[in-house]
Amino acid sequence: MALSGIQIYKLLPKTNCKECGFPTCLAFAMKLAAKQAELSACPYVSEESKKQLADSSQPPIRLISVKVTGYEVRAGNETVMFRHEKTFFNRPGIFVKVKASEGEEAIKAKVGAADAFKVNYVGIDLTVDGFAVEADGADASPGSAQAFATAVKAARAATKRPLILVGKDPAALGAGLGTLSGENALLYAANSANWEAMTELAKQHHASLAVSAESLDALADLTEKVKGKGLEDIVLDLKSAKLGPYLALSTQVRRLALKSNFRPLGYPVITFAEGGDGRDSVVAAQAIAKYAGFIVLDRFAPELVYPLLVLRQNIYTDPQKPIQVQPAIYEINNPKPESPVLVTTNFSITYFSVANEVEGSGLPAWLVVCDAEGMSVLTAWAAGKFDAERIAKTIKGFNVADKVSRKRVVIPGHVAVLSGELEAELPDWEIRVGPREAVDLPAFMKQAL
Ligand code: SF4
Repeated sequence: MALSGIQIYKLLPKTNCKECGFPTCLAFAMKLAAKQAELSACPYVSEESKKQLADSSQPPIRLISVKVTGYEVRAGNETVMFRHEKTFFNRPGIFVKVKASEGEEAIKAKVGAADAFKVNYVGIDLTVDGFAVEADGADASPGSAQAFATAVKAARAATKRPLILVGKDPAALGAGLGTLSGENALLYAANSANWEAMTELAKQHHASLAVSAESLDALADLTEKVKGKGLEDIVLDLKSAKLGPYLALSTQVRRLALKSNFRPLGYPVITFAEGGDGRDSVVAAQAIAKYAGFIVLDRFAPELVYPLLVLRQNIYTDPQKPIQVQPAIYEINNPKPESPVLVTTNFSITYFSVANEVEGSGLPAWLVVCDAEGMSVLTAWAAGKFDAERIAKTIKGFNVADKVSRKRVVIPGHVAVLSGELEAELPDWEIRVGPREAVDLPAFMKQAL
């Protein structure tokens, strides 16, 4: 069980020496209870207290890292059930699966295409995080182990991103791992039949190990056995073919880890998104929201991956810090020097409202996005983050005058009050006041510009 702040305080030296960076031992204890401080910050905790505190100072969901030079997927370390309580920290890694039976060249082509896929969303490049290679040979013959090793090699040749090796046969997975060096892969999966060999394999290759069982009780038993053999980097595989029960299981596991500090299930979850007719997209979307650490897609298709990446980006942001777009000058519909210059803030919803309306109208424009600390137009204006000085500085900073033949800038109708000050800041520019709502921009542009 997690200890409360008062329980932790009782185990501290109570000298209030401040060396931990907090004014009192009680303040430090409260931070420890909230998982916002490390026990090691206090140099005076007795060995006996350390032992008792070890459990409560560990994150309730273990952090698992699957990595290779230059790339890392981290899962776990989450502290809340609901995003609005605080935030979700480690975005679930999205992996695309290939099968050994597809053959070397097909694997290279598929992995290469998915690896190169990139979406620029509000100024951030979104990509898949890695690949899963499945040993789908029918038997456990040396030939199928060899085929798997060849498949892993082919995947590794086509991507530098982390890998998950999928299969039941430790010999095949071992052959695959043997082709990799200097990386921490994830093995899928240990079950009641193969867990000892799989645990040894994972330990030997510094890999994490997904553990699979038919019920939560069996899963908890198995993770304890694996942990007993000295492997703690564990990932959970929950079994349910249906979406509703799967959601219930995921929620139960998260709740047990966070609310009851139930260590045998305090690990991230891996989800396989499978099924035609769009079922895979629903499974993956549900897993992004609640509560996967790793998601393996059965196929790669831009129309499948794009919305999942965007959904994940939106959920794994701090709700107290709005998503912002990069302050810049954005070109909409191939603007020409005579096209109008529009100004707005860098709150992503504001940016997309304006950009989408103008783009949809087919009218060309230069859209200047000011750094307003991610606030919408009115909020930023009220907070002093979107004023004439800032707008003028942005227009000058991006050398907008060099791009246009007519110095004419349109400010949002909500800040019409700034037009006088802006004229003073930009004396050689014509200042126009646009509509209050983005939806009215196309009509305004057609009639007034
Ligand atoms: S360093 Fe330890 S003893 Fe000193 S104030 Fe912090 S918790 Fe208390």
